[in-house]
Amino acid sequence: MPLPKKTRTTRRDFLKGTAAATGLFMLPVAALRGGSSGKTKLETDIPMQPDADVVVVGGGVAGVCAAVTAARQGAKTLILERSGLLGGMLTAGHVNPILGTVSKGTIYDEIVSRLTAENETEIETTRNGREVYIDVEKAKTLMFNFVAENNVECWMQSLVVDVVRDSGGDTINRLLVGTPEGIKTVSGKIIIDATGDGQVAMLAGADYGMGRDSDGRVQPVTLEFTLSNVDESRAITAWGGSDPVKLPSGQRYSEFCKEANARGELPENVAIVRLHRTARKGERHVNATQKNYINSLKPVDIFTAMHDLRNQIDQCVRFLKKYIPGYENCILKTSGSALGVRETRRVTGQYILSDNDVEVGSKFDDAVVHNAWFLIDIHNPSGGGQAEGRSKIAKPYDIPLRCLIPPKVGNLLIAGRCISGTHRAHASYRVMGICMAIGQAAGTAASLCVKGNARPDELSSAKVRAALKAQGVSLSS
Ligand SMILES: Cc1cc2nc3c(=O)[nH]c(=O)nc-3n(C[C@H](O)[C@H](O)[C@H](O)COP(=O)(O)OP(=O)(O)OC[C@H]3O[C@@H](n4cnc5c(N)ncnc54)[C@H](O)[C@@H]3O)c2cc1C
Repeated sequence: MPLPKKTRTTRRDFLKGTAAATGLFMLPVAALRGGSSGKTKLETDIPMQPDADVVVVGGGVAGVCAAVTAARQGAKTLILERSGLLGGMLTAGHVNPILGTVSKGTIYDEIVSRLTAENETEIETTRNGREVYIDVEKAKTLMFNFVAENNVECWMQSLVVDVVRDSGGDTINRLLVGTPEGIKTVSGKIIIDATGDGQVAMLAGADYGMGRDSDGRVQPVTLEFTLSNVDESRAITAWGGSDPVKLPSGQRYSEFCKEANARGELPENVAIVRLHRTARKGERHVNATQKNYINSLKPVDIFTAMHDLRNQIDQCVRFLKKYIPGYENCILKTSGSALGVRETRRVTGQYILSDNDVEVGSKFDDAVVHNAWFLIDIHNPSGGGQAEGRSKIAKPYDIPLRCLIPPKVGNLLIAGRCISGTHRAHASYRVMGICMAIGQAAGTAASLCVKGNARPDELSSAKVRAALKAQGVSLSS
């Protein structure tokens, strides 16, 4: 059912289209979007009463922080989340510890202090920087409490499948959302794309990049899991391939893992079984499984990866039980329900955060995240280990407001791992601590747009910075 270019719909046509959309779910995306190029946009002249001031698509850590901040700043705010959980990779992806630091006074501090309030384990500092150990189950509850306390409305199991733009204009007039009740339309004055995948931006026609420059390949996917019944008095931890930790035999643990991989006792490309603490003693959180050459925007690739990674979990547990002291009686406690996706689209913004920016620690007059810090952590897109031998150390850098503003879509802001940056810069700012602060910045900018009836590209960065400072965020050293 190809749609003509520049479709101008009447309300009746539009509703007919929406009713038919249940059937459209069965059509290829190209047909829904009006041609194999996918370039024709659904458009309308029908003004719509906004359902919310700010609509946040995606309830990962960036989306939750954006929504809570926008609501705290007085905006009527709605989250649309395709799964049954809030927190994204933190919860459904079962990712631990929270890594990445930013300047003092951000929403990261608030979340960390709530998540660690009853921890049995201490926050540690390794080559990864500050490692905040969490209980993923507690994080699931916290995410719901956080949005509810701040009067953010949330639609769960609500997948944004397309956008309708203003006819001839560049703004998103409404979002088409697949919900358990059927397809619905939702509109907002400002939309924040916090999907991790830059899905809304892509649907709205924004430019984006994906993967490394040389061949477009992305970082591998992983399914993380937690073990219980670990003997805390004997069990090692290991934060990565460079961790010098040794086994009682005196052999370096990372070398032992490599040998096991060569013998086929660990999955292909799994050269290190990372063993992190959780909030509780006697547990370890394992980041080890790995599948390369997966495009997690393709549903069939997601099946392939999940199938393989679930079996990899069993193989890693067998390895730990057989060889590593303290793990003999460990039990697989929990694992991710969603595929752990490190990298998909990076939406092109007014500014692209560069390799150099994270390497030298660039500072910007329009910084909305200050002193972001994490390694340039590129899990090898085409094999095991790190892409650059050893992850490079970044210097504390700023993220400018321009990285959150895609030039081609008038009422859209980007938050989280899909903001504008290079493959290598993304490998640093993609961690959760930094994504939380990006979310806070996006929520602040969105609420100011609503108050001033302005588009993001008309917003004064000085006003956004002033509003962040008023929230207690430090934006200068
Ligand atoms: C295996 C792995 C290990 C990692 N290790 C660490 C670590 O140790 N420490 C650390 O800090 N970071 C780590 N990271 C990185 C970090 O977890 C993520 O980059 C970060 O959580 C991204 O947050 P986000 O909110 O931008 O996106 P996400 O967490 O991906 O959230 C996006 C949300 O949007 C929803 N969504 C997507 N599309 C739609 C749509 N069309 N409609 C509605 N909803 C939609 C999704 O369901 C999801 O809830 C790791 C990542 C992976 C995959």
